[in-house]
Amino acid sequence: MKHSQTLIPTLKEVPADAEIKSHQLLVRAGYIRQTASGVYSFLPLGNKVLKNVEKIVREEMEKAGAVEMLMPALQPADLWKETGRWYSYGSELMRLNDRHDREFALGATHEEVITSLIRDEVKSYKKLPLTLYQIQTKFRDEKRPRFGLLRGREFVMKDAYSFHDSQESLNEAYDKMFTAYSNIFKRCGLNFRAVIADSGAIGGKDTHEFMVLSEIGEDTISYSDSSDFAANIEMAPVNVQYEKSTEPLAEIEKVDTPNAKTMQEVSDFLQQPTDKGIKTLLFKVDEQFVLVLSRGDHEINDIKLKHAFNAANVELATEEEAKQLLGAEVGSLGPVNVKDIDVIADHAVAAVVNGYCGANETGKHYINVNPERDFKIDRYEDLRFIQEGDPSPDGQGTIQFAKGIEVGHVFKLGNIYADKLGAAYLNEQGKQDIMIMGCYGIGVSRTIAAIVEQFHDENGITWPKEVTPYDVHLIAVNPKNDEQYALSESIYQKLKANNISVLFDDRKERPGVKFADSDLIGLPLRITVGKRANEGYVECKLRKSGEQFDVHETELIDKIN
Ligand code: ATP
Ligand code: MG
Ligand code: MG
Ligand code: MG
Repeated sequence: MKHSQTLIPTLKEVPADAEIKSHQLLVRAGYIRQTASGVYSFLPLGNKVLKNVEKIVREEMEKAGAVEMLMPALQPADLWKETGRWYSYGSELMRLNDRHDREFALGATHEEVITSLIRDEVKSYKKLPLTLYQIQTKFRDEKRPRFGLLRGREFVMKDAYSFHDSQESLNEAYDKMFTAYSNIFKRCGLNFRAVIADSGAIGGKDTHEFMVLSEIGEDTISYSDSSDFAANIEMAPVNVQYEKSTEPLAEIEKVDTPNAKTMQEVSDFLQQPTDKGIKTLLFKVDEQFVLVLSRGDHEINDIKLKHAFNAANVELATEEEAKQLLGAEVGSLGPVNVKDIDVIADHAVAAVVNGYCGANETGKHYINVNPERDFKIDRYEDLRFIQEGDPSPDGQGTIQFAKGIEVGHVFKLGNIYADKLGAAYLNEQGKQDIMIMGCYGIGVSRTIAAIVEQFHDENGITWPKEVTPYDVHLIAVNPKNDEQYALSESIYQKLKANNISVLFDDRKERPGVKFADSDLIGLPLRITVGKRANEGYVECKLRKSGEQFDVHETELIDKIN
């Protein structure tokens, strides 16, 4: 590609709104431009990187036995009502009406669409297992879109869904996906860690997040310094022996709406004795709902709450929101089995149950958990979130903390969606059975930002080889000089003929400008055609290490390969 023919609008200045390096550099180096808050255009270079990451994702998905398809972004509200997520997803779901006033959502995720499709098309165990994926634009009206591609309101996701007739089959697919994810992020050059995103106490193998280690990451991960143990901090279990009970914990009759504005007031409220035995509060944490049940008789609530909500943006839900979410009048809500909270508060972040909490979305919380009844604790002080320096729960080494960017998430869904949407099939015995599902997401556009966070220096981006928009940056120092231009042009053709992708800076700009742009853009190898063109010599420079050497044009291809 000739620079003169494409669009690479580089900037000298750091954009005022860009707080983190990946955002700054992707804008400055001409990869992306903001169209609206959290909505970006991928310029030619950005688009190249996007396609490269997608290519890696596709190759690894196919290896894992997943088949590509494409689903619509525009989704009828009815489907979302069937699963209840129309009510529980909150304002993150982009909603709109068509000309006939029918309601739609812009896909934030595709469980509803795929499950209803499979319900209609797959009727027999003979078609199972089946894993389908797509790479598609997602819409989430994030409360705080920020950090460029890291948290957009429109972004590119790879989402895969698997369908099974047994837990073993799901486990197999999950393991394959896990391997595929590891391969993908390795090929992207990333330093990452797969962390337990479920309560380790409940088996702990049902969901993992793939975290790219980075100071600017919004998640905190805990990991052992001498084993493979790693968990999202909100998930890390602490020395608790836990056995699940089958009894319902409590019935919620009403959501309390105390007049509390600060966390202190909330925790004061939780400490107060209560005549009905349990207090039920609905919180909003970063636009997600959290149902908190509290017996209010132990200070552990306070500790737990603070940990669960950490530095998150927490507020009490309004009565209106509580009503919408729980589908009942506040104060006259009625009897709701705690087990159903998963269903009702499908997108809940955490359920804090009698002082013990789990976190993050359906199936990921400790449900129906009651200290003393459901698990034994010797001392309440043991019941706390894991801290740096603690012994690792697997008994090996000591816990360290790190910040991470969630680039991928694999999750054993079980039959929640299949059940709600009626995805049944005939099993080998000729009986109806509900399908078992897994879902697997990768933030494709977020991954690009994560790569730049790990691959840059003070002058610009330093792309790893599999994702770089071009392999070589070819620079003619003075394209007006006939010898230089002729040699550059012949090298340009030769590189292309050898399948080495090349960006040719053929502009009539000052060398300083070209070199600065070249560093900013960050291709792995720069070939400069300058003074020694008359002898057939060019200068090579490796972007990352800075290593430089002169090569004769006749040896160039060999040297590069
Ligand atoms: P987060 O915790 O960062 O909000 P999430 O847990 O809501 O992410 P998932 O529903 O697990 O996201 O979606 C799968 C993947 O999509 C995530 O692992 C992440 O890489 C990506 N992703 C989610 N939200 C965004 C966003 N707003 N912008 C870019 N990528 C996103
Ligand atoms: Mg989210
Ligand atoms: Mg998350
Ligand atoms: Mg997630």
